[in-house]
Amino acid sequence: MEGHPEDQDQSLMSRVREGTGESAYKCYQCGKCSAGCPLALEMDYPPSQILRMIQLGLPGLEEKALGSLSIWLCLACETCVARCPKEVDLPKIMDFLRQESLRRGLTHPTAKNIIKFHRAFLDPVKYTGRAFEVGLIADYKARNPISAFQDVLIAPKMFFKGKLSLAPHMIKGRGEIGRIFERAMKKESKK
Ligand code: SF4
Ligand code: SF4
Repeated sequence: MEGHPEDQDQSLMSRVREGTGESAYKCYQCGKCSAGCPLALEMDYPPSQILRMIQLGLPGLEEKALGSLSIWLCLACETCVARCPKEVDLPKIMDFLRQESLRRGLTHPTAKNIIKFHRAFLDPVKYTGRAFEVGLIADYKARNPISAFQDVLIAPKMFFKGKLSLAPHMIKGRGEIGRIFERAMKKESKK
């Protein structure tokens, strides 16, 4: 019996299938995801076009998808999933494409600050189990000095309204959170 066409090679489509369980083949390019995506206008390629690049698997197109800004702008809002007649889980695919883009060193230059923000956000979660806004701002600005004075006047207002805490809150189950991170890192290193 012939296997699924995606399983016969190591194209990006087959890697997406292995990594997410989602098949880009399901997409029939109706465009409903792109029409409803709140970020489509900011993206270099709308979500349906990213899927088309993966489906075609032509030389250069996979790299174009992995090097796009679109995959980094996706908010995982799931509007596309709700609209898709084929139930394609695009945010899951976008998440995988981000990892693949990093792994293959194809990341869009504008995405570098987004990645710095992701890391600044996740580091406190890894150690305390919760986001720590003041730490996030300080860490992000240290990683991205050009933003040092951006929004600087908002912080005191938020502090006096009790929206910012100067010390991180530790949750009880933070050991388990740390183990989740460890498991994710191990899984990532095996790819
Ligand atoms: S809505 Fe679904 S089927 Fe239509 S283009 Fe988007 S992913 Fe493809
Ligand atoms: S999950 Fe991503 S691709 Fe889908 S609608 Fe939201 S921002 Fe757009």
